[in-house]
Amino acid sequence: MVRPVRVLADSDRCVGAGQCVLTAPDLFDQDEEGIVVLLTDSVATEADAKLAREAEHLCPAAALRVTAGTDDGEG
Ligand code: SF4
Repeated sequence: MVRPVRVLADSDRCVGAGQCVLTAPDLFDQDEEGIVVLLTDSVATEADAKLAREAEHLCPAAALRVTAGTDDGEG
């Protein structure tokens, strides 16, 4: 059992580099301008959490945030 993590994407920071989509195509997409689109805001498998963290580290604009999910508010 894996603790869910939350994924946040700041489209104002995103520069459309696409690293997140290349890294985790099930979690991220890009709109027609290349700006990140979150396909989900919470992931519950270890594999997806790992990919989300990898994308967070790779994003050149620091537009992604992956946080431990909690049941009662901000993690
Ligand atoms: S890696 Fe970062 S800058 Fe590139 S598309 Fe994803 S969120 Fe945007």
